[in-house]
Amino acid sequence: MKVGIMGGTFDPIHQGHLLAAERAREEAGLEEVWFMPSSTPPHKPNAPKASAEQRLEMVKAAIAGNRHFRAEALEIRRGGTSYTVDTVHELRRQYPGIDFYYIIGADMVQYLPNWVRIDELAGLIKFIGLARPGYSSETGSLPESIRNSVIPASMPQVDISSTMIRQMRKAGKSVRYFVPDPVLFYIEENGLYES
Ligand code: ATP
Ligand code: MG
Repeated sequence: MKVGIMGGTFDPIHQGHLLAAERAREEAGLEEVWFMPSSTPPHKPNAPKASAEQRLEMVKAAIAGNRHFRAEALEIRRGGTSYTVDTVHELRRQYPGIDFYYIIGADMVQYLPNWVRIDELAGLIKFIGLARPGYSSETGSLPESIRNSVIPASMPQVDISSTMIRQMRKAGKSVRYFVPDPVLFYIEENGLYES
């Protein structure tokens, strides 16, 4: 069985993440997508604003009712800095029968050369790369070993980021329809990202 891992900080999860996961699922013929919030992301200067528990709860709220999507708390349980290469080793150990793919937006496609132990990781799994405004989906400038492990999938450009949502909340603006309603309710109930 083919499973896509959608990793991220999800601070908060938004429509761009959900659409990317669904496009990847369909285009790559994945049976499931597992959304995996990181504990501490390696590439971000600031700690997530919401707690790991809150980010996981928002993921669960966003995907409830979709039988192809599930939340995976492996990185949160492990704690510390979440390196994808460690995670993929662990997943392969736990689920030897599953063929894993790692879903990423174009910003992360371009950033792949900086991922910790990327050559090892590229030998373990394939990436599914999706378009994202402001970033090229071209893999031509990547080292060949990395380039060969990226499978492109198409999606309409969705100009939404978690950073944008946090800034809008701080400015007192509505983020309705940027995030699914159950996520909006969670954010409002918990007063997340207010100034
Ligand atoms: P932040 O602004 O805090 O970095 P983000 O919106 O980039 O948040 P992340 O949790 O950092 O969200 O991203 C997780 C994964 O989802 C990454 O692979 C990223 O490229 C992808 N992704 C996020 N938003 C989009 C989008 N709008 N279109 C396509 N891919 C996206
Ligand atoms: Mg990001």
